[in-house]
Amino acid sequence: MMNILLVEPNFPLPDKSKNHGSKTRAQFLPIGLLKIGTWHKTHGDRVRLVRGLRAAGMKPDRVLITSLFTYWSAAVHAAARYYHARYPAAAIEVGGIYASLMPDHCRVALPFAEVFQGLYRGGLVENVTPDFSLLEEDLDYQVLHTTRGCTRHCSFCGTWKIEPEFTFKRSIVAEVQKQRLVFYDNNFLANPYVDEILRELIDVRLSRGRRLICECQSGFDLRLLTPARARLLREANFKAPRIAWDGPYDRWPKVKAGVDLLKQVGYGRKDIFVFMVYNHDRRYKEMRAKLDACRRWKVRVVDCRYRPLDRPFDNYRPGPTRQTAADYHIHPAWSDDEVRRFRRAVRHQNIAILLDLPNGRYLAGCERRKVGSKSACPMSPRPIIIRCDGGDLHPEAALA
Ligand code: SF4
Repeated sequence: MMNILLVEPNFPLPDKSKNHGSKTRAQFLPIGLLKIGTWHKTHGDRVRLVRGLRAAGMKPDRVLITSLFTYWSAAVHAAARYYHARYPAAAIEVGGIYASLMPDHCRVALPFAEVFQGLYRGGLVENVTPDFSLLEEDLDYQVLHTTRGCTRHCSFCGTWKIEPEFTFKRSIVAEVQKQRLVFYDNNFLANPYVDEILRELIDVRLSRGRRLICECQSGFDLRLLTPARARLLREANFKAPRIAWDGPYDRWPKVKAGVDLLKQVGYGRKDIFVFMVYNHDRRYKEMRAKLDACRRWKVRVVDCRYRPLDRPFDNYRPGPTRQTAADYHIHPAWSDDEVRRFRRAVRHQNIAILLDLPNGRYLAGCERRKVGSKSACPMSPRPIIIRCDGGDLHPEAALA
């Protein structure tokens, strides 16, 4: 029997964003570590999970540290050094997204650690149920995958590098434990059995006849969103559907058709979101045209600031203070001012759409007049779960 310590580094997230939750717009949960925990427990090991830097309550033989975005590498280094100093006899192992994408960078920074790429032990725990009891919090939802990897190879996305093989399940219903399901698939609709899976989700009835409530963390691939599938998504009670518009402005008829399709099957316009990568190949002017199209369709936008896959830091600070490319990645076709203006335009437009302002045009200070009213706060719309750090989705997070 071994003592296994699972570590989620102290990523720079607000505490409320550590978990999904019914009251929070949370985004990150160390689901991989929870699966690894199950596997080791069933093989007789003693397992603990710590989030951040603190005493483990055991003397670990192995310390397994996860990593996320490359620009959060400093938190991973800090965790590895902390646990190496605290438990010098333990083997320190680092895996996850950053370790997979920049293994050499990680090895240089942490010469005492073993760095692993890809899924844990080649997918050993892929079909293992996560051990949520390792968390201190009691979650009211469950995270599931029906696929791994992606069938596409978008240049800005790291999914297909981390999970190069596209794999899929034919059924998911045997894994359902809770009413609220959050799918962490990168490209949910790419599963060749997605229709069958949606049908089985539709048929599930919990105690007292309750139906499932589903959400897909990534956006739906517009090219795979057929009318029949949109209906199935709606019937399966998928909330807050999101579609990605990474292509040029002139694709707007297809995007509009996707938005209209979601409306036709019963989604309200305030339920629908459009993902957009900015600070990338599409220039500011074109991005504003895309944003304006969403204003006309009265749907909100999730803006995703592009960051290169090999950038181990990101010191972008929101707000009016000017920064340079030494602070964060600014695409050669963009300027710091444009990055800030685009982000601000998205925020304002989303507020205007949420508040039903005429033509979706923002009026300065309109959100303050709503504070205290019973209407939804425009700054904190009802919880949506996206791989987006308040509008800063890293390209490593899938946008499908
Ligand atoms: S952006 Fe989406 S569709 Fe493109 S490779 Fe990533 S997950 Fe797949």
